[in-house]
Amino acid sequence: MSLTLTVDGERWRGHLRRTATALPGLVPVAKGNGYGFTLGRLARRAHWLGVDTIAVGTYHELDDVAARFPGSLLVLSPWRPFTPRLSADLSRRVIHTVGRPSDLPDLLARDPQARIVLERRTSMLRHGLAPGELAPAVRVLAAAGQASGEGVAIHLPLSSGTGGAGSHLAEVHRLMREVAATDLVPRTVWVSHLDTADLTQLRSAYPDFSIRPRVGTTLWLGARDALAVTATVLDSHRIERGDPFGYRGRAAPRSGHIVIVSGGTAHGIGLESPTGELSLRARASTIARGGMDALGFVRSPFTIDGKQRLFAEPPHMQASMLFLPDNARVPVVGEQVAVRVRQTATTFDRIVIS
Ligand SMILES: *Cc1c(COP(=O)(O)O)cnc(C)c1O
Repeated sequence: MSLTLTVDGERWRGHLRRTATALPGLVPVAKGNGYGFTLGRLARRAHWLGVDTIAVGTYHELDDVAARFPGSLLVLSPWRPFTPRLSADLSRRVIHTVGRPSDLPDLLARDPQARIVLERRTSMLRHGLAPGELAPAVRVLAAAGQASGEGVAIHLPLSSGTGGAGSHLAEVHRLMREVAATDLVPRTVWVSHLDTADLTQLRSAYPDFSIRPRVGTTLWLGARDALAVTATVLDSHRIERGDPFGYRGRAAPRSGHIVIVSGGTAHGIGLESPTGELSLRARASTIARGGMDALGFVRSPFTIDGKQRLFAEPPHMQASMLFLPDNARVPVVGEQVAVRVRQTATTFDRIVIS
């Protein structure tokens, strides 16, 4: 009755171990829907990996991980004066990210012993201190006797390949020169979206720095063949051309079967199947076509007998209606069919890890 994520545990855990070994100083990122696994599960897994720190996206996510992971908890969203107060226990474990000069004295006033990472803005232009603001912030933090400076954060856009025009290295080196020119103590830099080759380069260029990669996707979702997503066939109905079906009583454009599978909008099943295709032209042509085939059906992310099937109508909240043409085998009730999902936007009913 469910949308299920099945994990080949041995493969998955093997990949996690290899990734942690390949990335010394690794900070696993556990945020959002926990990359499909839930935050609690990722927190326990990170503890099993033996890391000393994990990163959450927001302060609201701390409660889901704090009891399951005993180490330090880096919050990626920058601290703001409207951030809720932390319990005494949490405040010793949480590492705040500060990205505006004015937030630094405010946070120190609220918690003189706060643990703080200073974020330096990158070409992403999301958060962080502007050029010229980092060195003064480092001095303010050093002068605040009880507070604990934990280094500088650099959040880069997604890499488009090592060494090429889209490489991060030029930008990272520019930012690192700025960081190195400050009196930062400890000399720790938290980076995102650098691959192992970039990290190796950076470490050899700045041997007195400790480089800590913050990684979510390539850690949790890097072993794609260890993960399988399936939906359950719940029902099927023969339909003749012209027969009405669905919420709006649409007439079937030809005969076949309506097949009902588990998985709908509440799970994050969307109208467009995720293609992983980012090119604007591909997007535009999909929109131009309305994503529809000749019968006016939209492609679904559900696959039956190796073929991606059509939605008979937009997904419902917890189930989806598919249209199967006459020549296709009709799956039996209870059968599992493959689904392509965006793991970071999907809520599974069941997660089975072997
Ligand atoms: C989400 C996030 C990450 C992890 O990103 P992935 O692409 O999943 O590895 C790292 N750093 C920051 C600041 C983030 O917000």
